[in-house]
Amino acid sequence: MQKIIDKLYKEHTLSQNEYLETVNSFSRENAEYAAELARRATLPVYGNKIFIRGLIEVSNICKNDCLYCGIRKSNKNAQRYRLTKEEILECCKEGYTLGYRTFVMQGGEDGYFTDERVCDIVKSIKALYPDVAITLSLGERSYESYKALREAGADRYLLRHETADSCHYQRLHPKELTLENRKKCLADLKSLGFQAGCGFMVGSPYQNAENIAKDLKFIEEFSPEMCGIGPFIPHSDTPFKDEKAGSAELTCYLLSIIRIMKPNILLPATTALGSVEENGRLKGILSGANVVMPNLSPYSVREKYSLYNNKLHTGAESAQALEELKEQVESIGYKIVTERGDYKQNI
Ligand code: SAH
Repeated sequence: MQKIIDKLYKEHTLSQNEYLETVNSFSRENAEYAAELARRATLPVYGNKIFIRGLIEVSNICKNDCLYCGIRKSNKNAQRYRLTKEEILECCKEGYTLGYRTFVMQGGEDGYFTDERVCDIVKSIKALYPDVAITLSLGERSYESYKALREAGADRYLLRHETADSCHYQRLHPKELTLENRKKCLADLKSLGFQAGCGFMVGSPYQNAENIAKDLKFIEEFSPEMCGIGPFIPHSDTPFKDEKAGSAELTCYLLSIIRIMKPNILLPATTALGSVEENGRLKGILSGANVVMPNLSPYSVREKYSLYNNKLHTGAESAQALEELKEQVESIGYKIVTERGDYKQNI
């Protein structure tokens, strides 16, 4: 088994069957082996640097009804909010002072955030802070819309593919949403010059090892600049409320596999990983992750952006919490840096 991991380390490609074998051979021992190679793979590209991204949750209003998500349209218990431009700029101001040089604006698919409004916000942030990168994560939009956002100055876009198997995709989403369109959006984003991020949940309902092998092959072929993976965590106001959460250990193993496959990829240790396991984010870093995305949203809305239950709320949003995160990261031999942390093309 370790031979396949060695092969991936050397050649950066495997067949889907080999990925399946890799997934099926998940064990503590193999995970440790993969983590070791993953750390080794990152070093020549990004050294021991960990990039921080300030996450601003701009709206929990969403027209979609994804079965897993706590802010789905039919959740009548969600207290809906959206941030104003002024509130978003205030988050950036605080974040910039703390040393953040990437802001991520994430939200539900809220019709209020038209191209005109998002472009205006992006341009305003760039005018105030020309040295920051802006990442958007606002769901599926048209090519023309993505083009306008890119021309306004947005640098990166996160849109998880959620699962690369169309039958599985259909079991997680309402029928209006298709894997085909998701993939088209990702291809559009890439063609427009965004640093693009796909990704999936580990342990989502109905997921099997074949699905994960497909996800890995999709990531290999699409070759995104970023990839977000985290455990599925049930939310009590969704149809999946009684499903069980995904495993932190399997998430870490898959982070290692993705890192070995793509040494240059920007790979976050996600909030979901930090939420299911004590020190989950540190374990993610030791498995090959090199990005963390602390929460910069105003305190008043944090509880409301509830994608899943028991979401980690300590966020390095205050100077003190950021100091603590820095210390934790340093204690395992890594270093939080205040750089934009762009994708490195060739090393
Ligand atoms: N509307 C945007 C942002 C979605 S939220 C979009 O469509 O891209 C960001 C990610 O959170 C989703 O892509 C999904 O993978 C993840 N997520 C949603 N619900 C979750 C849950 N219950 N457990 C874990 N992750 C979840």
